[in-house]
Amino acid sequence: MKYVLALDQGTTSSRAILFGHDGSIAGVAQHEFKQIYPDVGWVEHDPYDILTSQLTAAVEVLGKARVRPRDTVALGITNQRETTIVWERESGKPVYNAIVWQDRRGAPLCKELADDGAEDTIRKKTGLLIDPYFSATKIAWILDNVKGARAQAEQGKLAFGTVDSWLIWNLTSGKRHVTDRTNASRTMLYNIVEDGWDNELLKLLNIPESMMPEVHWSSEALGQVTTSLGLGEVEIAGIAGDQQSALFGQLCVSPGDAKNTYGTGCFLLQHIGDKFTLSNERLITTLACSVDKKLEYALEGSIFVGGAVVQWLRDNMHFFPSSSDVESVAASVDSAENVVFVPAFTGLGAPHWDPYASGLIIGLQRSTQMGHIARAALESIAFQVTDVLHAMNKETQQPFRELRVDGGAAANDMLMQFQSDLLQLPVRRPAVLETTAMGAAYLAGLAVNFWSSTEEIAKLRGQDTVFEPKADPKQMEARQSKWQDAVKRAGGWNK
Ligand code: ADP
Repeated sequence: MKYVLALDQGTTSSRAILFGHDGSIAGVAQHEFKQIYPDVGWVEHDPYDILTSQLTAAVEVLGKARVRPRDTVALGITNQRETTIVWERESGKPVYNAIVWQDRRGAPLCKELADDGAEDTIRKKTGLLIDPYFSATKIAWILDNVKGARAQAEQGKLAFGTVDSWLIWNLTSGKRHVTDRTNASRTMLYNIVEDGWDNELLKLLNIPESMMPEVHWSSEALGQVTTSLGLGEVEIAGIAGDQQSALFGQLCVSPGDAKNTYGTGCFLLQHIGDKFTLSNERLITTLACSVDKKLEYALEGSIFVGGAVVQWLRDNMHFFPSSSDVESVAASVDSAENVVFVPAFTGLGAPHWDPYASGLIIGLQRSTQMGHIARAALESIAFQVTDVLHAMNKETQQPFRELRVDGGAAANDMLMQFQSDLLQLPVRRPAVLETTAMGAAYLAGLAVNFWSSTEEIAKLRGQDTVFEPKADPKQMEARQSKWQDAVKRAGGWNK
C-alpha cells in the first residue's frame, strides 16, 4: 500500500495526516503548541515550536499507521498563512519569533502607507487591502526593530518565509528556500497579475528582494526530505496556504465554487477563474491552487476570530475544559436572549477591515448565564460568515445556492443549523472535515501521479450531511441587523 502524507501546520496545532489512494485517512497525529502574547494585539509563535511539533507529528503518524517512509509517495504541506519568519541563511536561526497572522503591530505602518495613497497601487498589484494581517508590515517591523537585522538583510544574509518555507528549509537541510504562489499572494509583496515579487512594493516597504523565497506552483515535485528523522527521501510535492488548500480539498476548482472553513478564523473563498478581478465589497482577491500551471484566482472574505472565540471561553474564561463542551453549555439555554458577542479580539477583517475594533459582549442582564454567552459566541461565528457571504453575493453573477463547509468548528451541529437559518441556504458538510490536509495531499499526489486528475479525486468524496434552513427568515434578518448594530459599537475602540 502507498500513501501521501499531509502536514497541516495550523495556528494552534501541527497535524500530520496520512491518506490512502482511496482518499481515506490512515492515521492522524497532532500536537498543540504555545501561543505567545507579548503585548496588546501581538501574537507570536516560537519557530522551533512550529518545527518540532510538526516533525514530531509527522514521524508519529507513520509509526502509528505502521507505514514506512518509502511507502509514502509524496509529502504535501499546508500552513497558517501570512505568519512571518525571518532567519539567518548561514546558521538557519530565526532572528525573531514568528509574527502570527493575527498580530496587529503593523497597524501604524499600514496607516502610513494608506495616508501616502498606496492603497490603490497595492490593490491593483496584490488584490489585497492594506492591513497588518499580511506579511509585508511584519517583515518591515522585524527589520526595523531587531538589532542588526536591517544590516544583515542588506548584505543578503537573511531569509524571509511563511511557515511552508520555514518547514521546507529545515526539511531540506537549508537547501531549498521556496514557497508557492498561494502563500506568496498573502505577503502584500507579490504581484498576482504579473506573477512575481513586486520591486515597487519591496522598495515601498524597504525590504530587500534577496530575502524572498523562490516561488513555485502548488502541485510540483520540489525535491526530497533530507533530514534524518525517519522521513528521509520522501518527495515534497505540494504546498498551499491553508485556505486555498481547503478550497482545493473541497474540489472548488471551477468559477463559482466556494467553501467556508470554520477553524481558528473563518475564511470564505470562491474560485473566480483565470481573470484577475477586484472586489467592490472590501473582499480580497488572492491566488488559488492550480494544477495546470496557470494563474487562477479566488475572492476571499477573511474573518480573524471564528472557532477561536470558543477557545477564548475555554482558556481565558475557563467556561469548560474542551472546545466541544461549548455544545452542551450552549444547549443549556433556549436562546442567547439579548446577548450579542462581537469577538473582535484582533480587530475585524472582512468586510470591515478595522484593526482598532475591540471585542464586545452586549445585552447582559441579571439573568444572563454562561450558556447565553456561549451561545452568543457560537452565533457570532455564523453572523460574521453571513456578512461576508452577503458581500460576496453582491460581487458575483451567481448568488450562492448552498454553502460548503469544513474545519474543526464545522463539527458543531448547532452552529451549522444556525448558519443555515441565518443564510436561508442549505449548508453542506463533508464526511471528512480535514479538507485542508486533504487539499495538500491531493496537490502532492497529483504532482507524482498517485492520482491522475481532479475527476478521479472527485469520486473519492464520501457522504455529506446537509443542514436545511428551519427558522423564520424575518426573525433571522432582525437578528443579523442587531448583530450589525453591535459591530458598529465595537468599531475603533482601541484607537
Ligand atoms: P486551525 O486549523 O485553525 O487550528 P481547526 O480547523 O482545527 O483550526 O479548528 C479548531 C477550532 O475549532 C478551535 O478554535 C476550536 O475552538 C474550534 N472548535 C473545535 N470543536 C468545536 C465545537 N464542537 N464547536 C465549536 N468550535 C469548536
